[in-house]
Amino acid sequence: MSAPLRSLLEFPARAEAQASWEYVEGWGMSAGSNARVLRPQSLAELRALVQRARAGHRPLAMRGSGCSYGDASLPLGADVLDLSRMDRILAWDPVRGRASCEPGVTIEKLWRTILPDGWWPRVVPGTMFPTLGGAAAMNIHGKNNFESGTLGDAIREFDLLLPSGDVRTASRERESELFHAAIGGFGMLGVFTRIELEMKKVHSGELEVRAVRAPDLAFALEHLERHRDRCDYLVAWIDAFACGRSLGRGLIHEARYLEPGEDRRPRETLQPAHQDLPRTLLGVPKSEAWRALRMLNNDFGMRALNRFKYHSSALEVWRGPYRQAHAAFAFLLDYVPNWKWAYGRAEQRGLIQFQAFAPRAAALQLYREILDRSQSARIVPYLGVLKRHRPDAFLLTHALDGYSLALDFKVAPERRSALWKHCEELSESVLAAGGRFYFAKDSTLTPDQARRMFPAENLARFRALKRELDPDNLLQTALSRRLFGDFGSQSSKSE
Ligand SMILES: Cc1cc2nc3c(=O)[nH]c(=O)nc-3n(C[C@H](O)[C@H](O)[C@H](O)COP(=O)(O)OP(=O)(O)OC[C@H]3O[C@@H](n4cnc5c(N)ncnc54)[C@H](O)[C@@H]3O)c2cc1C
Repeated sequence: MSAPLRSLLEFPARAEAQASWEYVEGWGMSAGSNARVLRPQSLAELRALVQRARAGHRPLAMRGSGCSYGDASLPLGADVLDLSRMDRILAWDPVRGRASCEPGVTIEKLWRTILPDGWWPRVVPGTMFPTLGGAAAMNIHGKNNFESGTLGDAIREFDLLLPSGDVRTASRERESELFHAAIGGFGMLGVFTRIELEMKKVHSGELEVRAVRAPDLAFALEHLERHRDRCDYLVAWIDAFACGRSLGRGLIHEARYLEPGEDRRPRETLQPAHQDLPRTLLGVPKSEAWRALRMLNNDFGMRALNRFKYHSSALEVWRGPYRQAHAAFAFLLDYVPNWKWAYGRAEQRGLIQFQAFAPRAAALQLYREILDRSQSARIVPYLGVLKRHRPDAFLLTHALDGYSLALDFKVAPERRSALWKHCEELSESVLAAGGRFYFAKDSTLTPDQARRMFPAENLARFRALKRELDPDNLLQTALSRRLFGDFGSQSSKSE
């Protein structure tokens, strides 16, 4: 038997070997289901899986590391196409700072590879575990969104495997519409199989960081506004329990890159080992720290913890500017492994995030209303984070000239429906203020709210592309079904 024929006959068995039935959940654990998970390791395997899914009319829900909080990487009657094993860095050019990567390369793998050469990813989220495919599909932003834009702004080009089996290369100059639609297109138009990115040159493995206390929301917003021209990163933690004159109080962290010569031992600080987060927290092995947090994971404990964090920050503010490794600053949330387990791991538990993007002029009033109403409803978020954003050119972007307030709400069976209703009502206020939401964080939007959040023309263009490139709605997720149904697919029309 010839080799090509043998490999053709063998392939289905190999592809099958990558499949297993598993419980798959969103990062916030409040949604999940059993599904068949397919894990291709190469483009050939991936293409064969897509072709078989198409022939068998079995939809596919793509998944990277599953770091989206809600149902964005979950199936609804679909198989899961897990791309995390396609994780090779295909090329790295340390002179120009450009990397070409398979979609399963994580942010962590990327920074560990490039940092010793004096580069850092231009955009990173608050955790280092997402894959580049998942990050591009959501068009993630970092604490420097106001200055550096979203991840899409750092992408030069990508290859996208379409449901037809064709691979298209897109960049700003070539297939520009596809470029601006697939980035942020939440995995609806095709599978990213190669992503080429530009990095940021850095002269040290450390940043200069300064903490500033914000006595209320107006101060925090004003500070982010006034200091964005002289900072490379800006983020504010918000104590969502504080009320009255202290409503929206918090702690701002601003950071800047070091100039050449400022770091006297750059070779050392640029080593990944210098970035590694400490193994213990107050003497406790970090892997066990979530258990301690669990004891505080109720309204009483979280009110106390937020208050303690605010008041104890005086010390950090007093200390003045200090140096911090990039990873420690960027991935603060990775400090305590599995901290989300403190929210409870049983079904119907966990957490959701409500991230409201607001235009600059509307932000203060809107965020005051959101915090006030949450306190009145006794549905108070345990964590609040404020960021400054800037608009970009992507078709379904969440970014705008304004701010976002991200709020983590605990999910418990007895208050689940009240929480969903609360978020649905808050979403109406956000939309009325001209705001937006971010699919990577969403759990509660309704189809009508999703429709109203984008300019009608953008949504129409996206729908048209979806029908052209994926007429049978092969690529779908629980989120896409919840918000957009079947996009008016051909198969549903012929039924
Ligand atoms: C603790 C924490 C902090 C976070 N902080 C931030 C933050 O600061 N800023 C921010 O923007 N986000 C943040 N996020 C959200 C996270 O960055 C996004 O959800 C990101 O998309 C996760 O990547 P992933 O690989 O886990 O993708 P998944 O969550 O698995 O999937 C995300 C989407 O990508 C699609 N997809 C996956 N792979 C591909 C592919 N190869 N081709 C096409 N589509 C694909 C999926 O279908 C899905 O729609 C945070 C998440 C966590 C858990």
